[in-house]
Amino acid sequence: MKPIRIELPTEFDVGSVNSYLFTEPEPVLVDCGVETAASWDALNAGLGQHGLTPADIRRLVITHPHVDHFGLAAKIAALSGAQVWIADMGAEWLIEPKKLFGLRADYYRDHFLLQAGLSDEMAQLVLAYFAQIADDITPVPAACIHTFQVGDWLSLGGADWQVLHMPGHASHQTCFYQPDSRQFLSADMLLPKTPTPIVERPLPNQPRQPSLPIYMESLKRCEALDIDTVYPGHGEPFQNHRQLIQTQRERIHKRKAEALALVQQGYHTAYALMNEMYAHYPPAFRFAGLWMLIGYLDLLEAEGRVRVETVGGVWQYYVIE
Ligand SMILES: [Zn+2]
Repeated sequence: MKPIRIELPTEFDVGSVNSYLFTEPEPVLVDCGVETAASWDALNAGLGQHGLTPADIRRLVITHPHVDHFGLAAKIAALSGAQVWIADMGAEWLIEPKKLFGLRADYYRDHFLLQAGLSDEMAQLVLAYFAQIADDITPVPAACIHTFQVGDWLSLGGADWQVLHMPGHASHQTCFYQPDSRQFLSADMLLPKTPTPIVERPLPNQPRQPSLPIYMESLKRCEALDIDTVYPGHGEPFQNHRQLIQTQRERIHKRKAEALALVQQGYHTAYALMNEMYAHYPPAFRFAGLWMLIGYLDLLEAEGRVRVETVGGVWQYYVIE
């Protein structure tokens, strides 16, 4: 059977998020929206169209531990006794989200936002934004959690779906592929709009992982898959995934070239570049572009087009002539 899309509203820029329902042989949901009354109502309405309520859900499968994908997990599990399934590498984010958000915030405050050269005021805005998200999360009790691993097969709707690791937007993101019907539950890997390559906290004594170059590698692996229909985390299901991937790449390379031209013109810090590239946003919203920009700079650095010098703790980018 095909996944049934239930569209749930979020308060984020991304708009709505998709929860996918399989009704047979038992009710299973893949992802479940943010924890708001509007999202809960939309989920109830969507399930109601199939004669179900959240209490009927037996399993909830989470593609990646971002709040728009697992926000209602604790509530659904409490009501239904549903098992909550997630890749082992991401499980801690569901069980102890505040701890992990806190660690990432520490890394941002003490390292990343300083290296990016953000003003104090802008850094406070970024940290407040994430603190607000962390505050609103209800952790999922560890007793409800069941984990799978990359390469495992999940039974959804009576078919077996292979778990693929697709990092870049989230380092723990998994997608699910059904080779016979060539269906692909893509989470936020394949979306009409490029997903934000979130900068993650590196493991102790490890360098920061460049999220956009990693995303580009995952795109290549998606391109190689034989897919009929993509069921994305946001927006409507679509076909021709290779065409979407090509469009994504072209846009990323165009924006990367714009970033390079600005470095050449004398914008040397990520903050200065962000303010230039996202000048069409009000200042208080420009940080939304920071992750993409860092991504373009990471690509340029990987391609040997720019070099980075750390001056007074701030990354300074220079074009390699
Ligand atoms: Zn998402």
